[in-house]
Amino acid sequence: MRWDPEAEQAIQKVPFFVRKKVRKKVEAHAGQKGRSSVSLSDVEDLRKKFLSKGGMEKEVRGFEAAACFGGAGCPNCAAPCEDLAGEIEELLEKADIRSFLKAHVKTGLKFHHEFRVVLSDCPNACSRPQIADVGILGASVPGVSDEPCSQCRACVETCPEQAVFLDENSGRPEIDPETCLSCGKCIRVCPTGTLMEKKKGYRVLLGGRLGRHPRLGMEVPGIHTREEVLMILKKAIEFYKTHSTKGRRFSQILDSIDQIAG
Ligand code: SF4
Ligand code: SF4
Ligand code: SF4
Repeated sequence: MRWDPEAEQAIQKVPFFVRKKVRKKVEAHAGQKGRSSVSLSDVEDLRKKFLSKGGMEKEVRGFEAAACFGGAGCPNCAAPCEDLAGEIEELLEKADIRSFLKAHVKTGLKFHHEFRVVLSDCPNACSRPQIADVGILGASVPGVSDEPCSQCRACVETCPEQAVFLDENSGRPEIDPETCLSCGKCIRVCPTGTLMEKKKGYRVLLGGRLGRHPRLGMEVPGIHTREEVLMILKKAIEFYKTHSTKGRRFSQILDSIDQIAG
């Protein structure tokens, strides 16, 4: 849908973590009025609706699942999160976090109370999974096959982390697992198949947030299958519902545990 410049300017003032959601609602609002473009008055209507008593609370689902636009054909995609996103949404829906929040937050539900799961199809992390309650990143882990290496150095030049090098003696590629981010770029440029995909899966980050005391999500070590990702998410939600009171974020609970652990 086309946006008038004034409407676009106004939507940019909405905090980025809810901007996409508000944008969709504004477009739906304009659509209901039978229009194919968004004007400033549509943004103003939504603003008034949210600021009216209980206006925002009605819109709070209890969770948000967002993804990058890798599914639209981004060439950097390491592992697509699109299908996983549907299962995650289902799991979040079943967990009924909205009812949980309603019982614990006495001051009215706001979008910042929602449990946020953010997916990115590669470590470029355009959708910012590092600051979500649960962040998921697509991963394509490189390995070295038995195919001969032509020593074209395409892998070395492509790797943004300088994690691939050619061994001086054998002339064969080697990968530093400590610095490799499993983006899969080196695999895609290797013309001989010497570098191949050893594993496809997902990295998982827990407990990220922005706000007054920002915190980046902590990584659950390893590359996980979709079943493992869903299991981790299920456990994270259970943990959150067991320990959160008064709308405390998942990351704040993890903070307290860190403090207790020393
Ligand atoms: S996170 Fe990666 S796959 Fe997703 S849009 Fe960004 S660059 Fe593309
Ligand atoms: S997967 Fe990405 S980070 Fe890892 S070695 Fe290949 S290009 Fe470098
Ligand atoms: S591993 Fe592949 S990309 Fe790297 S130098 Fe050998 S042939 Fe070239």
